[in-house]
This record gives sequence, structure tokens and C-alpha cells, in this order.
Amino acid sequence: MRVAVISDIHANLHALEAVLEAVDAEAPDALWCLGDVVGYGPRPNECCAIVEERADVCLVGNHDLVCIGAIDVSMFNYDAAAAAAWTRSELAADARSFLGRLQPQAKTPLAELFHASPTDPVWNYVLSDEAASWAFQATEAALILVGHSHVALQIHLDHDLLAGGVARADAAVALSTGRWLLNPGSVGQPRDGDPRAAWLLLDLERMSGSFRRVAYPIERTQSEMREAELPEALVARLAFGE
Ligand code: ZN
Repeated sequence: MRVAVISDIHANLHALEAVLEAVDAEAPDALWCLGDVVGYGPRPNECCAIVEERADVCLVGNHDLVCIGAIDVSMFNYDAAAAAAWTRSELAADARSFLGRLQPQAKTPLAELFHASPTDPVWNYVLSDEAASWAFQATEAALILVGHSHVALQIHLDHDLLAGGVARADAAVALSTGRWLLNPGSVGQPRDGDPRAAWLLLDLERMSGSFRRVAYPIERTQSEMREAELPEALVARLAFGE
């Protein structure tokens, strides 16, 4: 079984379309989305409709939950809160009900999926060895998939030895030994210095993973954001991937 894994789309329709074109070229058996379909970006309704139609598994993320009013916006910084308020006013009933039906974690026969981390599926960032170690202790899954940090990661645990870190574009990992925690990176707002949209292709028969990046028309998303009067810092960061 080959699976395309996407996360943190953040209402960036042009990034999502570019990723799905690359996904379709690989013709995987399934598409899994780790959450944060909306928040920050200018096209929340379209992204919800596409993900609802295409994803075999979709989690809900912290931004999705804030944007549908399920959790309080006070956890957000000023720009994230402003974007969430805008998104809340834009979200159509269909999109709202789609997001409202999702959970922040899921189990499949070959992997466990969390928006953020097994230690807290909504909020905890896995960005340090310590956080990764806690994540491995919180579940027995051999393969853990997380999103949330917007940083593509490949972390390996073998006989108590933790290794790995940021996954660069085109990095390939062999998943056959030990346990793994992978983050595909973010489709719509990468924060690892590479502004291209990120996704991950898994081959769960051969037990391998391949980190992918795809260019998309960033300036189109930026001009839609300016038209929507979303915070300029959120517009600017897309060009730098940080
Ligand atoms: Zn996110």
C-alpha cells in the first residue's frame, strides 16, 4: 500500500493543488491528511471541499478547531487570531460541518496519526529530541505520523537510540527497522526554510518513505491574502518558508 501524507494546508489552495498534482502523478492507494486544513490562508472553503473529497483519512488541527469555535482563540498570537477570526467569518456551513466531524488522531493498521503529537494530539510540538522521546513513549506504534510544526522531520528510535531530525527535500528513509516518527512538513505554510509545498510518500509494503517538495505560485496566494486583508507578516513569510 502506498500512501500520500499531507498536513497543514492552511487554506493555501494553490499549494494544495500543486501537491495533489504531484500526488496524482504517483497514483498512491490512499491520501492521509494530518489536519490544519484552514487558518492563516485565503481559501478555506475550497481547501475543505477538496480535502473532504480526496482524503481517505483526515484529522482536525488546532487551527481548524479554533476556526470552528470548538476551542478558544486565546491560545493564539495576534496574527493567528486575526486570521482565525477572518476564517470563522468566511467558513461555509459545509466546511464547518466537515471540520466539526474530524478527530485530532487516528489509527490505521500500519501507523498512528496525530495532528500534533501522541502526548497531546492538538497542541504539543515535536521539535526537539526530548519531545520526540516523549512522543515515542506515549504510544507503541512502530510508525507515528505528526504535523503541526510545519517542519518536515524523520526521527528514528532503535534500541533506545534516537536519531534523525529535519528531512530535506528528496530525503528517502527506510522504515524497516526500529520505530519512526515522521512529519511530512506543511503544504501551505512551510517553516523549514524551503518555501515549496511539502508532502510525504510512504510505501508501507517496502517500508520506505520519500519526502517531496513542489513549487507553487506563491504570489497568487499572497495576492489573495492581501485582498482578504490578512496580516502582512503571514503573507510575507510564505516567500521565505519560515
Ligand atoms: Zn498548522
